[in-house]
Amino acid sequence: MNPMFDVVVIGAGPAGNLCAYLTAKAGLSTLVLEEHEAAGLFVNCTGIIGKEAFQRLDLPTEPVVNSLQAITFYSPSGRFFRYDSGGPLAYVVDRHRFDQALGGLAQSEGAEFRYNCHARLIRVDPQAVEIRQSEEDSNPILARAAVIATGFGSNLPLQVGLQGPRAIVYGAQAEVEMEGLKDVEIYLGKGIAPEAFAWAVPLQGSRARVGLVTQQKAPIHFQNLLQHPRIRERLRTPKPKMLLSPVPTETIDRSFTDRVLVVGEAAGQVKTTTQGGIYYGMLCAAMAAQTLREAAAQDDFSSAVLSAYEKAWRGAIGEELKMGLSLRQLFGRLSDSQIDAMVELGTRDDIISLVRRLAQFDWHRDLIETSLKLPALKEVAKAGLW
Ligand SMILES: Cc1cc2nc3c(=O)[nH]c(=O)nc-3n(C[C@H](O)[C@H](O)[C@H](O)COP(=O)(O)OP(=O)(O)OC[C@H]3O[C@@H](n4cnc5c(N)ncnc54)[C@H](O)[C@@H]3O)c2cc1C
Repeated sequence: MNPMFDVVVIGAGPAGNLCAYLTAKAGLSTLVLEEHEAAGLFVNCTGIIGKEAFQRLDLPTEPVVNSLQAITFYSPSGRFFRYDSGGPLAYVVDRHRFDQALGGLAQSEGAEFRYNCHARLIRVDPQAVEIRQSEEDSNPILARAAVIATGFGSNLPLQVGLQGPRAIVYGAQAEVEMEGLKDVEIYLGKGIAPEAFAWAVPLQGSRARVGLVTQQKAPIHFQNLLQHPRIRERLRTPKPKMLLSPVPTETIDRSFTDRVLVVGEAAGQVKTTTQGGIYYGMLCAAMAAQTLREAAAQDDFSSAVLSAYEKAWRGAIGEELKMGLSLRQLFGRLSDSQIDAMVELGTRDDIISLVRRLAQFDWHRDLIETSLKLPALKEVAKAGLW
């Protein structure tokens, strides 16, 4: 019979590894299961993490490959507006090294890692959670509680009576050689990334990540993006290798049950404005670890105790997610000429000072709420959108 762990975390991504680090640090015996041979393999991600996340969660800085200070937004007709924050706004990490570094922190606190271990079956008993790699697996992993941190698409939540996130968009991206890219560039327009946006993000030297999110036909839009005048002329990679992944745009209805919590992208804890999931997933993972610590102290992992986790994370990011979703829906209804006019507005002194005052890399609610009340913006949206 296997030993009983306090906590088993399924998935060694940013959310799972941070949760494991914190539960191990709190003295709970912690096991992390990762289906690949190491953390951070086969990841499709730009790797942008805001400055606040590094400060608040004391994240490792060794995997940082670039720091970002300015963003230029290009409208469909080529107008642009550049926002320079005057200091680092965010950092770009190498996800393989970042996920590994977080795993290293968890290991240094005593967490055990099992790689090449794909958790396929999960069952909650009155005394424990049992995890198996297959139906034939007669030696299940046992824990007092489990954290599902698998990213989007696992059926483990379903096996314990929970749902996965229902609404998704697709992210298509490639790492390329691109000349003369100094700042982040964002490209807007119906023909570029309908309802969302495309980007070019500088890494080290002339390396860059180029990609987009959109609801449909992402591979076609990605090929079109490579022909965007700002990209085509500077691209030095003949055939960029595109990766395609779904990203949830809404949270799951319920993220806890007896002995089980769901964290990170598996719970839809992703910014609804930009589809960035690393910081929100880790913030919520920290709340999951805190709840597990309290449950262990009471020796009670029932859903009544674990419900504190959901209350905490919805309180922290729930309103932000709702506001971001409303903005995305409104933005999706704008025509290209309205987007042109919005980008034009961004060059006005009063708008620039508003953005300076309210813009935060990870929290967009104040800026959205205030902007939506601006007469100039209402003018742009004369079609009666809001
Ligand atoms: C194109 C693109 C660009 C993006 N850019 C950014 C960005 O710049 N910034 C940002 O914040 N977010 C970005 N995101 C989103 C971000 O990548 C995810 O939200 C983030 O990786 C979620 O972290 P996670 O820990 O929840 O899950 P994941 O990072 O998906 O980690 C889950 C881990 O669990 C493992 N696993 C899965 N199932 C099992 C199983 N059954 N058993 C064992 N192991 C399992 C996986 O192998 C993986 O290691 C981007 C997404 C896309 C598609």
